[in-house]
Amino acid sequence: MPVKVFLTEDEMPRQWYNLNVDLPVRNPLLGPDRKPATPEYLGTLFPMNLIAQAISTDRWIDIPGEVLELLYRWRPTPLHRAVYLEKALETPARIYYKNEGVSPPGSHKPNTAVPQAWYSKEFGVKKIITETGAGQWGSALAFSCALVGLECKVYMVRVSYEQKPYRKMMMETWGATCVPSPSDQTKAGRDILSKDPDSPGSLGIAISEAIEEAVADKSGKTKYSLGSVLPWVLLHQTIIGLEAKKQLKKFGEKKVDVVIGCAGGGSNFAGLSFPFIYDKINGAQIDIIPVEPTCCPTMTKAPFVYDFGDTAEIAPIAPMHSLGHTFVPPPIHAGGLRYHGMAPQVCQAIVDGLIEPRAVHQKECFEAAVLFARTEGIIAAPETGHAIAATIQEAKKAKEEGKEKVILFNMSGHGLMDLKGYDLYFQGQLQDYAYPEEEIYKALELIKDLPKPQLAKAGS
Ligand SMILES: *Cc1c(COP(=O)(O)O)cnc(C)c1O
Repeated sequence: MPVKVFLTEDEMPRQWYNLNVDLPVRNPLLGPDRKPATPEYLGTLFPMNLIAQAISTDRWIDIPGEVLELLYRWRPTPLHRAVYLEKALETPARIYYKNEGVSPPGSHKPNTAVPQAWYSKEFGVKKIITETGAGQWGSALAFSCALVGLECKVYMVRVSYEQKPYRKMMMETWGATCVPSPSDQTKAGRDILSKDPDSPGSLGIAISEAIEEAVADKSGKTKYSLGSVLPWVLLHQTIIGLEAKKQLKKFGEKKVDVVIGCAGGGSNFAGLSFPFIYDKINGAQIDIIPVEPTCCPTMTKAPFVYDFGDTAEIAPIAPMHSLGHTFVPPPIHAGGLRYHGMAPQVCQAIVDGLIEPRAVHQKECFEAAVLFARTEGIIAAPETGHAIAATIQEAKKAKEEGKEKVILFNMSGHGLMDLKGYDLYFQGQLQDYAYPEEEIYKALELIKDLPKPQLAKAGS
């Protein structure tokens, strides 16, 4: 029985899938003036050729030949059948996972870092500034900038910078500069430090710092880059689901019953699931599940509002489920899942009832990830542990129901730089924690004057 399917470079998809055509986001991004964000305003942050992808009305967008060649460094990624996990669970379900951990930085993130770096270079950009939580995005962008020849600077959330020194070393090996955030290099950072010199930082603060420095260069040669949430990021990630479809066919599967991905800003979930949401819009019966931590319950507890993408209120205002842009997350060991918001396209799919978000406690995630490591062999990132936990829940349900379901999940990254979290789990030092709902509503008081998004379905 085959346990993995590879594709050749020739078989790699030539186009990305643009869900916006089939599921238009009903509320636009807003600029600082609280009016719909214009391309000119977004152009101060991002190169215009990426913004063009966000407003494209084409369902399929060509991947430039040079980008394909860069992606060949590690793509197509293998699709595995988790036969050993299935056996351990005694489930009649067939479980498949897309292994995005094989990229050089170790996650799905270079799927968009590479095209973002390439399009930036095409546009005449010389330097890219970004932020990183756990370090996955910073290392993906550092890697990509090295391949295309751009300067790269990364503001890394301080608590991760201290917990994960190897991520910083990876970034430096690829030639990037990495500074802990909050830093004294920006006004946003200095303001936070003056109030709280020991601030552990947050993704929201690091985004403020990166944007502030990027827009300070009036020559237009420095741009900001974001590793999740934005439409073009999700677009670039659809290569995951498009490859997976071809590979499932080679495994002999005719349909999929359940599609699962963990969701921080929503990009790896979107990358795997959007091509399947297309099928669902066109009549297929698929349960599509984004999974988040109970201590950062953006999709399962937070209301759908307009909120800022960052703490200092300089990023665009997005229609999304939000825990409030002042959210400073509890220090759980899934750094990539601690963002206060969620991609507007993922939120639109929630509003339309196409996907069903789920929250899982961190101990269950580590328990699932340890079982995965001891059966399939791969040590997954703690973020990915959320997808594995939900997969195991679904496999057990299939067993109870006696159904031969096909379950597909995204193995978004390996956890070889996150072993500290595993260590604390083994020592019994991890706590489960449900973020109190009062805190969400307290934080949202701060944005009560922002416009309210319409809870309007896309209608597909
Ligand atoms: C960053 C990251 C995530 C979460 O980000 P998304 O944009 O929601 O995909 C999940 N898994 C891994 C391994 C990551 O590095």
